[in-house]
Order: sequence, then structure tokens, then C-alpha cells
Amino acid sequence: MFSIRMRAEKNEKHISGAETLVEKNMISATIMELAQRALSHEKGEPDFINISVESLKIPVKKLTSLPLILTHVENETEGKTLARKLLLELGIPKLCIAKSISLLEKGPANGENMRGAIIMDLNGNRLEPDVVRGIRASHIGITEEASKELQTAISDMRLSTFYTYISDALVLATKVASVKGTLGELCWSDDPSYTAGYVASGKMGYIRIPHLKKKGDPCGGRVFFVENIDPGNYINEMESAPVLVNRFGGIRSFNE
Ligand code: AMP
Repeated sequence: MFSIRMRAEKNEKHISGAETLVEKNMISATIMELAQRALSHEKGEPDFINISVESLKIPVKKLTSLPLILTHVENETEGKTLARKLLLELGIPKLCIAKSISLLEKGPANGENMRGAIIMDLNGNRLEPDVVRGIRASHIGITEEASKELQTAISDMRLSTFYTYISDALVLATKVASVKGTLGELCWSDDPSYTAGYVASGKMGYIRIPHLKKKGDPCGGRVFFVENIDPGNYINEMESAPVLVNRFGGIRSFNE
């Protein structure tokens, strides 16, 4: 299998990124698709696009996606209240929850968005070596079969418009939750028009919250809450170990 990764920049600022794992016969089509994504992002036309193709040297771990759980909140205040509650249920201390939300609100890279995620321990310390780059969950993909199952489920819930967002995030969150030491993840997008985010964990699944910020807000990010990790090993696995989602874990509505 091959890992294909795209990142696009404008004036040396990150605009978008995407990646997948494919067999050799899908390399050309995938490159075209990722180039198209880079060129049509709402944050503008990039002046630099990098697409890399890498043959995988280590065996690919195959996983069923986290179950996709849909919540209904009216606005970002309700959304954040629900996110706090879910994170508390995962055993994440209040201090860490407050700190992570405040970082994502302000822009966690000294007021700007990061390229990757924050790693936060249960004392609220940030463990990522570079606070601008952060940690990238990488070498991830989804099979066509699993992707189709997800597409059907999302369409039944009338969420097809958000298919790419949900698929990318579900695959990423499935890998993050599978890495030993992850207790949970908090995310909301940095795309100004996309207000949704999620709290994900192996314990509770991928809980999508439709409002975690106001429309038009350009800030977002990800926080991986961790316990008892060796940062070097954790980061290495997160960035390099290939994970392919080959089954969709199902969809349901959230019941408190
Ligand atoms: P997005 O969901 O693509 O709008 O990304 C939201 C935020 O998540 C970005 O601002 C980054 O800080 C972070 N992020 C994006 N991609 C990754 C990744 N592959 N691994 C870790 N963090 C990421």
C-alpha cells in the first residue's frame, strides 16, 4: 500500500491538508482528487501544494471506525457545555478541560492555528515539542467499502453535505483513540464556515457536536488528552504507524 499526503499553503501559512492509504492502481486518481481539494478550499487558493507518495514499509493496522454518535445542540454555548460534560466523564480533570477549550478559542499556536494537535497530560501540561506544528495523526486511510457504508449512514441522517469533514475526522479520531495512552480527543475545525466538532474516545465513540464555535470564527484545533505515555513513542506511533479503517462502526443518536 501507499500513503498519499497533501498539504497546501498560502504565504507560508497552512490552508489545508488531507491524506489516505491506497493500492498502487489508485495512486493517479488519488493525486488528482487531493490536488482538486487543495485548489478548492474555502480559505483560498494556495501558492504551494505538496503531494507526497510513499510506499509503506510497516504492516498496516486495520481497524473498525469508532461509532459515530450524533448530538443536537442549538448553539456553541450548549455545545461546549456538552463537550465539558463528556470530557469529565472520560476522567479528564476540569483544569485540563478549561485550558484546552481556552487554547482552541484563542488559537493554540500563540494566537494562530496549529498544523497538528496539542498533547495534554492530566496536569494540563502540553507535551508536543513544537507548539506551532503540534503532532500530526498521519498515515491513515479508509477503504472504499467502509467509506460507502459511512456515506450511506450519513446520507440517511441528512448530513451528506458534511461527508468529507466527517469521514476525515472519523478516520483520524479512530487512529488517535487506538494509540495507547489516549484518554480522549477534543476537536473543532479551523474552517470558518464549519462550526462542528467532536469529543472522541475508545470508551464512548466519536460524538459529533454540531456547534462548538460561531460561524465565521477562523480558530480551531485538536487536543489529545493522554495518561502515562512516553512522548517519543506516542508521537512516533501517531505520526508514522499506518492505520486503515476497513469497517464502519455504525451510527446512532446520542442519549444522555
Ligand atoms: P480541520 O479539522 O482540518 O479543520 O483541523 C482542525 C485543526 O486540527 C487544525 O487547525 C490542526 O490544528 C488540527 N489538525 C488538522 N489535521 C491534523 C492531523 N492530521 N493530526 C493532528 N491534528 C490535526
